[in-house]
Amino acid sequence: MTPVRLPTQLFLNGAYRESSSGRRCSLINPATEEPFVEVATADAADVNTAVESAQRAWETGWRDLTPGKRTEILFNVARMLREQMEEIAQLETLHIGKPISDARDEAALGARVFEYYAGAITQLCGETIPVARGGFDFTLRQPMGVVAAIVPWNFPFPIACWKAAPALASGNCVVLKPASLSPLTALKLGELAHAAGLPAGVLQVLAGSGAAIGDALVAHQQIRKISFTGSTAIGQRIMELAARDLKRVSLELGGKSPNIVFADADWARAAETSPMSVFGNTGQDCCARSRVFVERGIYDPFIERFVAATKKLRVGDPAKPETQLGPLVSSGQREVVEAFLADARKRGSQFACGGRRPHARGYYLEPAVLLDVGKDDRCWREEIFGPVVCVAPFEDETQMLRDVNASPYGLSGSLWTNDLRKALRVARRVESGVLSINSHSSVHTEAPFGGFKHSGLGRDLGTAAMEGYTELKNVYVAE
Ligand code: NAD
Repeated sequence: MTPVRLPTQLFLNGAYRESSSGRRCSLINPATEEPFVEVATADAADVNTAVESAQRAWETGWRDLTPGKRTEILFNVARMLREQMEEIAQLETLHIGKPISDARDEAALGARVFEYYAGAITQLCGETIPVARGGFDFTLRQPMGVVAAIVPWNFPFPIACWKAAPALASGNCVVLKPASLSPLTALKLGELAHAAGLPAGVLQVLAGSGAAIGDALVAHQQIRKISFTGSTAIGQRIMELAARDLKRVSLELGGKSPNIVFADADWARAAETSPMSVFGNTGQDCCARSRVFVERGIYDPFIERFVAATKKLRVGDPAKPETQLGPLVSSGQREVVEAFLADARKRGSQFACGGRRPHARGYYLEPAVLLDVGKDDRCWREEIFGPVVCVAPFEDETQMLRDVNASPYGLSGSLWTNDLRKALRVARRVESGVLSINSHSSVHTEAPFGGFKHSGLGRDLGTAAMEGYTELKNVYVAE
């Protein structure tokens, strides 16, 4: 790969700047275990600077910009992202070990998200309402002000884009906080968006740890909405803090998604494609189909194909284009996953394959297929966020749905059948915000994405996301 320029400072008020404390944090390449850059980390004073600059930028220009001008600027941002896609992809691979071919797709997705919202700006409409007393009544969708967008490390660039783009499109300013393990592509986004014509202060990027600046950001008086993607535990904390000022929140949280395969499906295709639906991004995917329910009649041949397809996955250097699974993001994350595997061994689950460290260097782990996992075991119940799947047979549709919905999560899932009525019946019953039939896709830029139950509230993507960054005002005009 050609060397890329690494951002090392916060992106504040239209320029790269040191943090007020001068503190820096070292990033480790998960593929080599070597530190490769030090990046400034923000503290509470930087949070204040960012939020105040954003508020100023909002009041003095951004909120009153015509939709036409906003559209033009966001299309420019998208164009800039497309021009710099390779650099963005390489930064993503360096800091989180994402396979370069996936990182390239995700860089393109980020640009596509900006294009979509640039085009959607003029579609954000109100209504006219024939109220009983006569006169003229209409609704306005108004921007909120300054939005805090807090994103995780597993899809750093696309998630940053799918929060920033709709928030900016609907007229807000954004303070973006990437995870401390993955600040590089968010910083790059701030730089490129500014170079593309976004005024200073409209999109700023605070690299830093959630523990150090999370509370200061969430509780800041001038923040009107917190749009968060991350773990359920931190989402709950944010919601509690936000409640004090009745701040708006949208939360995209964890998952333990089902993959349901009926005997009448093209189950061979399901078996061959399902491994990437859970092991993609090395299992560090909120939509990972980590519980596979297979109808009893096809269970044995399904397992055989599923395990064979899993063993073929290429685990290795994320910089190589043929690699499908890179390392886990950090040594700590691998230890978390290994603790789950140790628990499964202790409880007598069968390892059909995987679960070992395949390379001496890098935080790699072979994808593991677990059978005979108890429904009360941790591996079955909890989000593992690593390359581990539990596969179990089912005989009865009603009981299977009970087991599917016993999870506190409800983010995503797949179901495989060629019986249309069954597909629609089961799709209605699965408690999740996103579901695909005879497919593993979860994310479409144009469609709402989010969860039921502990998987969150509010929606990213589609026009639903733009609405979520506005307040709805009703205006009445007397005759
Ligand atoms: P995390 O909750 O630890 O961190 C997410 C972000 O929150 C990071 O930027 C972190 O620095 C910040 N943060 C941490 N403490 C904070 C605090 N007290 N206040 C404010 N911000 C704080 O999650 P993670 O480990 O980065 O990501 C993994 C989790 O994210 C998994 O549970 C995964 O399922 C979830 N996730 C969900 C989706 C979705 O769309 N539903 C997408 C990706 C990841």
